This record gives sequence, C-alpha cells and structure tokens, in this order.
Amino acid sequence: MWKNKRFIRWFLLIVGVLAILTLTAMNVYMLYDVRDTLIQGEQKKQIALLDEVVLNVRRTIYRPYRGFNTLELEPIEGSIEERGQFPEQVREKIVQVAKSPVFSGIYYTPANVDPCIEGSQVYELDRESYLLNLTNEYSQNLCDGVGLVRTKARIELNNFDYRWNTNTEFDAHRSMNIGFINLHENSVIGYLTATIDRDYLIKEVIAPEIQQYFDSSKTTSVVWLHDWANDVVLASNNNEIPFQIEEVQERVDFGRMFENWNLKIAFLDNASVSLYHATFTKNIVVLGFSVILLLGALFYIFYTAQKERSILQQQADFLANVTHELKTPLAVMQAAGENIADGRVTQPKRLKEYGTHIYQESIRLNKMIEMLLDVARSDYGTTLIHASPHNLHLLVNHIIQQQLPLVKKKGHSIGYSYDSDNAVVLVDPEHINVILTNLIDNAVKYSTAPSTITVQLATTDNGFNLHVKDQGIGIPRSHIKHIFKKFYRVEDSLSAKTKGHGLGLSIVQGLMELNKGTVDVKSEWQKGSTFTLFFPEYKLYPSETNNPTLKNGVVLTSTRETSTLESETII
Ligand code: ADP
Repeated sequence: MWKNKRFIRWFLLIVGVLAILTLTAMNVYMLYDVRDTLIQGEQKKQIALLDEVVLNVRRTIYRPYRGFNTLELEPIEGSIEERGQFPEQVREKIVQVAKSPVFSGIYYTPANVDPCIEGSQVYELDRESYLLNLTNEYSQNLCDGVGLVRTKARIELNNFDYRWNTNTEFDAHRSMNIGFINLHENSVIGYLTATIDRDYLIKEVIAPEIQQYFDSSKTTSVVWLHDWANDVVLASNNNEIPFQIEEVQERVDFGRMFENWNLKIAFLDNASVSLYHATFTKNIVVLGFSVILLLGALFYIFYTAQKERSILQQQADFLANVTHELKTPLAVMQAAGENIADGRVTQPKRLKEYGTHIYQESIRLNKMIEMLLDVARSDYGTTLIHASPHNLHLLVNHIIQQQLPLVKKKGHSIGYSYDSDNAVVLVDPEHINVILTNLIDNAVKYSTAPSTITVQLATTDNGFNLHVKDQGIGIPRSHIKHIFKKFYRVEDSLSAKTKGHGLGLSIVQGLMELNKGTVDVKSEWQKGSTFTLFFPEYKLYPSETNNPTLKNGVVLTSTRETSTLESETII
C-alpha cells in the first residue's frame, strides 16, 4: 500500500517536471521561431523593394523604345540610301528616345559600315532638328557597342526560331545598342546606338529610386549601387555608413543591363526587430523565472509531503516504542505491588527486594518522563534558560565526577584534560549537565568495555571546545548528518541492543543552541566518535568582576568535589 503510493508520488513528480520542461521548451522554441519569422519577413520585404528599384530603372531606360517591335523596319535601308534619313514612322519613335535625358547621343550605323575603322561615316541624330547628319567624329564607345550587337545579331540570325525585328545589347552602362533586322531576308539593316549619360543615370535615375524606397530616415537598411568591376560605390541611401562587403546580406543584379553594377543591401537592426529583441529577452527572463518558481514549488510540495510522511512514520514508531518503554517498568511495579498488597510476601528480605524493584523502576520511569518533557519543551521553545558566567572546567569536572561510578560500573574509564582553568562561558549549568551526561552516556552505550572515554577542554580563538571522544563502534558516514534528528537511530546490531529512542542528541543540539554554542561530530565506523561542543568565550564586565557574590566574577560550581583533579587525569 505504502509502496504503491510512493510509486504514484514519484511518478507524478516526474510527469510534472517533464510537463513543465516540455512546455518551457515549446515556449522557448516558439519565441525563437516568431523572432526569426519576423526578421526574415522584414528582410524579404526589403529585398522585394530592391527588385522594385531595379524594375523602375529598367522601365526608365526602355520606356522611350515602346512600340519599336511593331515598326516596319525594312524601309529604313532604302530611306537612308535615298534621303539619308529614317522613314517618318521610325523617325517619330527615335525622337522619343532622343528626348530621354538618360541618352547623351543617338547614332545610326548602316550594316555595311564598320565604326571601328577610322574615318568611317555614321549617322548622328541632331538633338534639335531630330534629323540625321553624317559624321566621322564619334567616340570609341560606338565601335564597342556596335561590335557587341553585331556579334550577337549574327548568332541570333543563325537561329531559325528568331522572330524579333530588333536585337538589343548593352555595352555595360556605356551604350544601348539595337540591331534592326530584316526578317524577310534574315539580315541586319543597321544599328541604332544610344550612348548613356552615366552621371545622369546615377544621380537622377538610380539614386532617387533608391532614396524613394529606402529613405534613410525611415529604414534601417543601407543600400549601395556598387560597381563591382572597379569596386566603387556609385550611390547609397545613407552616406554616413561606409561600404563594407562583409556587411552585405543580399544583392540584386540589373540583368543584362549594366552588367558591372548591382545593388547591395545590409540590414541594420530594424526598430521593430530591436523592439522585439527587448520583448524577447523579457519573455525569456519571465519564463525562466516562472519555470524556476514552478519547479521549486513542485519540489517543495513533494519534499514536504515526503517529510510529513516520514515524521508520521517516526511518530508512530516512537509512540509504540514509548508505550513499550513505559509499560515495562509499570508492569514490574504492578506485579511487585500486587504481591505485597495481597500479603503473599511477608519475609522482610523478600519485601526489601520487592521494594527495591519498585524503587528502581520508578526511577527509570521518572527518567523517561523527564526526557519526554525535555523533548516537548525544546519542541515548543519553552525551555527557560538561566544563564550566568561559569568556569567551564569546573562544571565539566563536576559532571564527570557524577558520571564516574556509572561509567566504571560498565567497565570503562574517563580521561579528562584541560588547557585552561579559567574558561569563562555564559551558560545554564543544568543544561550543560544534561548535554554532557547525554554524550558520556552515548559514549558508554556505543563502546565495548573496557575502553577509555576522553573529555578534553581546549581553548580556541574565540571560545572553548569541549571534545568527548570514544573508541566505540563509530557512526557510518551516511548516517552522520541524521543523528541529531529526533527519533533517529542508526540501525545496526549494537544500536539495536542498546536502549534508546534517538532523542538524546536532538536534546543536546537544542540545548547547545539555547546556550549560544554549537555541536559537531566526527566519526569513523568501527573506530570511534568525537563530539565537539563549542562555547563562545564570555568577557566579564568590570561590574561583574567586582560582584562580591562571585569569585573573580565567576560562579564557582561545586569546587569542593573537583578541586583535587589534576590537569590531566585518568580516573
Ligand atoms: P539514542 O537514544 O538512540 O542513543 P541519541 O539521539 O543519543 O539516541 O543518538 C542517536 C543515534 O546516534 C544513536 O542511536 C546511535 O546510533 C548514534 N550515536 C550517538 N552517539 C554515538 C556514539 N558515541 N557512538 C556511536 N554512535 C552513536
């Protein structure tokens, strides 16, 4: 029954602890998850904005070319040959391109002209009249751009699936080149080159776009337009934060347009993320605190329940023990008294014997009751203390003298030594009597005769140690910390044979506390034990020193019996 309940209690404790730990782990996991999702969500949003910047720039570049792919391009050849101008329809579209400030110049190179050959003549669009003029003054960019688109166009034309009338190539950020294709003859008509105004593109197109989506006063991310080929930052939303490649968390390219450039972004601590960080830490702390509290409460409840159960068990044992102990002398007294009362015993010798029995048993009964009262008093803290300055050496000596006959009767001897005959302590002598008697009593009980019990008074820095040492059975290490508990007895064969209730040492400890001292024990199994009592030194006031009722201010207890004792004696 008990065992069953014990199992259930332990089982519930383990389940409880596991439940708390699992719930905590789940909560912590959730908190981390929410945090990560929040941060990732925030970053994804910013990357989407970066894409938007790229799209807007592309739109700005391509917008003037809208409608180009629906144009009839074949008439260009004839029109250029005849008039040196584009056909009207084409001209209208090219005017649109020329009006865009992104482009600094518009050139047309017929397919049979190679601008890379010095002195070649190409057409340049006049930005005012929007008419083509022949020129042989153009920059190297034209040669590069046309070279690029010509190569690509050749490749495309070999591909039979190619159905577009234009083929566009960017020479990095320098020029945008369009090859006009005659789809019927599968040949190139000519090349339109729009040179790009780099400064305008950066300062008036890309930088404002970045600023629009990543306003440095509102966002905590830094965006750089980076020329990776030359490792130069061309624009940024926040010039205060220098570009550091290690800080970059994501980059977005412009595709085939501006191949040397890309947008790079670094996420600094976002306001909402740092706010969440603070709440997150707070949550973790509160959670940790609650878990500790919960576990503490659970363990406390478990511990007190265990303790209560063991106290109940001890008290039940104690009651049975005490009842037995009380009944034995009573039974002897009852039987002896009955015999005398009946008049069955008449011989004086027998009468004396019965009388002695009754007397001895009543003494035993009395001792037992005294002890129970001591326990009850120390339990309720009602023991009164009548402390006064005493010479510890004289007190101890007196008690040893009292105990001597009993100790000798059991076949043991006592050795007493002291290093001070002026050890003044503030104690209740009655208590010291109970304490020392109990310790000597135990030393006798738990030793096999003959053996010597040593009592030693030693001065320390701030008081006096009184050691009571025996050569008895000792106390197993695992039991030492329990022996001062009420009703606790070491369960071995000798303890089982000796009479006791496990109360003596608890009384010793209680009384030592009342007298502002301490008790400690060192013991080795089968070798012996040493109980050490510590008493703080009492410093006499001048008024006490002058008190005529005290000799040197100290109560001299029973000096009569002890005055003959040497400083080291075996009695
Ligand atoms: P008891 O009435 O059993 O002696 P105590 O409270 O005086 O009760 O002691 C508690 C237990 O401590 C004893 O049962 C005994 O096992 C152990 N003990 C106490 N003193 C000694 C000693 N001097 N040597 C060995 N064991 C001791």
